[in-house]
Amino acid sequence: MTAARFRIAVAKGRLLQEALPLLGRAGLAPDGDPLRERRLVMPCADDGGAEIVIIRAADVPTFVEYGAADFGIAGKDMLMEHDGRGFYELCDLGIARCRMVVAGHARRGAPPRRPRVATKYVATARRHFAQSGRQADIVKLYGSMELGPILGLSDLIVDLVDTGETLRTNGLAEIEEIAGISARLIANRASMRIKGTAMRAVADRFAAAARTE
Ligand code: AMP
Repeated sequence: MTAARFRIAVAKGRLLQEALPLLGRAGLAPDGDPLRERRLVMPCADDGGAEIVIIRAADVPTFVEYGAADFGIAGKDMLMEHDGRGFYELCDLGIARCRMVVAGHARRGAPPRRPRVATKYVATARRHFAQSGRQADIVKLYGSMELGPILGLSDLIVDLVDTGETLRTNGLAEIEEIAGISARLIANRASMRIKGTAMRAVADRFAAAARTE
């Protein structure tokens, strides 16, 4: 591993696509195309001291918490699921916006008093139902949550909604919103202590780039 001044972990997929223009405006564009290449670690083209690491969205908080990356760019959905103790959340980058919702069949009556809820956001779903004093049985899925109610696996789902098209197409409808979601810049706590001034300068570049979004 190179001795980079800063390592920035970025969640791959939809978030990476939206993060690339922002990284460019912050002067931290990778020296290649992470959407096409297989390289997992890329130096920043205009900042020799920084490098971008492309990792699975759910792993970004872990890499930052353990200091394997100084910064991370991850969806608020992943931070809520991770419990957020091992890092600072520095700013809202205003990209990859969507909402986390509870959804169910569009044309059926109220769900049972103790619904079964399919989701990949187990901790968030559990917290949401507990906070509102309701019982629910949470079932972990890794994708295509919409199939839960369709195939009778669950009464409800907790998932991200952007345009609402996926829910509509599958005969489902939003029942309640849990949280507004967007990508956040997070930082390792020890890195902020040790390289505080330089880290804050990088965070300011991100905040300025986010404002011009
Ligand atoms: P939509 O049909 O536009 O409402 O998008 C819903 C589908 O896209 C669901 O499968 C979501 O899990 C996924 N999705 C929506 N927004 C995001 C996001 N910001 N990050 C990751 N997945 C998302």
